[in-house]
Amino acid sequence: MKGSIKEPHIHIKNDRQPALQAAVTELAAGQPIPLPTEPVYGLAADATNPAAIARIYETKGRPQFNPLICHMADIAMAERYAIFDPISLDLAEAFWPGPLTLVLPLKPASDIHALATAGLDTVGIRVPQGFAGDLIRRFGKPLAAPGANSSGKINPPSAAHVEADLGQKINLILDGGAASVGVESTIVKVEEGGKVRLLRPGGVVTAEIERVAGKRLERSEKASAAIEAPGMLASHYAPGAAVRLNATSVSPGEALIRFEGIPVAGEETARAVFDLSPSGDLSEAAANLFDYLKAADASGADSIAITSIPTHGLGEAINDRLSRAAAPRS
Ligand code: AMP
Ligand code: MG
Repeated sequence: MKGSIKEPHIHIKNDRQPALQAAVTELAAGQPIPLPTEPVYGLAADATNPAAIARIYETKGRPQFNPLICHMADIAMAERYAIFDPISLDLAEAFWPGPLTLVLPLKPASDIHALATAGLDTVGIRVPQGFAGDLIRRFGKPLAAPGANSSGKINPPSAAHVEADLGQKINLILDGGAASVGVESTIVKVEEGGKVRLLRPGGVVTAEIERVAGKRLERSEKASAAIEAPGMLASHYAPGAAVRLNATSVSPGEALIRFEGIPVAGEETARAVFDLSPSGDLSEAAANLFDYLKAADASGADSIAITSIPTHGLGEAINDRLSRAAAPRS
């Protein structure tokens, strides 16, 4: 699009090729775009680019890093990133493209970034219909996308809602008309042993899933379901090492995560030192957060000292993540 047009509003039905081109240009530049999909409008970004995923959180003002659904073009693309058991493959073949999300183990070499999975070793994958699927095929990489709404607002049913809510923060409005399903995707996970657990009801009705899986869905409130329900504590990555927050010094053998290039007393004897953003950029800090937590953990330190991080903007989600990482666990 021409630079003079600040925020193109493109109707994908009338201008499909320009819409695809404009969307790919934004995505390749690491910018989130609103993505019309059949359940709701998503806010999509390159799932392999941490800075792009951080911008999703920044745009939504979301105060927590949750695992995001990663959208793929087709089963073949999904198989490059995740490991399918036979039941998940049957479900994918039956319901994709469509509003079913499968939680699957990540392939070890997958380049889906930890900020998209909130550091988990599983990934929620869905193949959307229509324009979104075509866009992902053209872009060639998975798109991480939560709803295209500011945190606390309802999922947007139309491009006009997206524009009213987020128009000041994004460069492109893709208008795909009204979302046709209007409810979120159904999320299931096939557990070891072949039990199929319903993590969230949604657009694909459970009776259909049971018919294809050939068994009843597990819906019990037992631990494995509870830990993966949206927003729950244990659905998040936590390092093996102890985590010490608001550190003002670091002990010999501890790993240190600091911010804004500010040196910390004792860091010469730390086992490892990371700076989330030497320039004090919270967006950069968010992009580095999971990588540095994991690297600090992998350094072999028993304890990770983390200096205080500002609480404004993305700092809220960063602090939420850190306090979960520091929470006592059994
Ligand atoms: P939303 O983007 O708002 O539709 O929410 C996505 C939902 O998918 C969140 O509530 C997550 O809990 C769930 N989800 C995504 N990935 C995973 C995963 N790897 N494990 C468990 N739940 C997941
Ligand atoms: Mg949502």
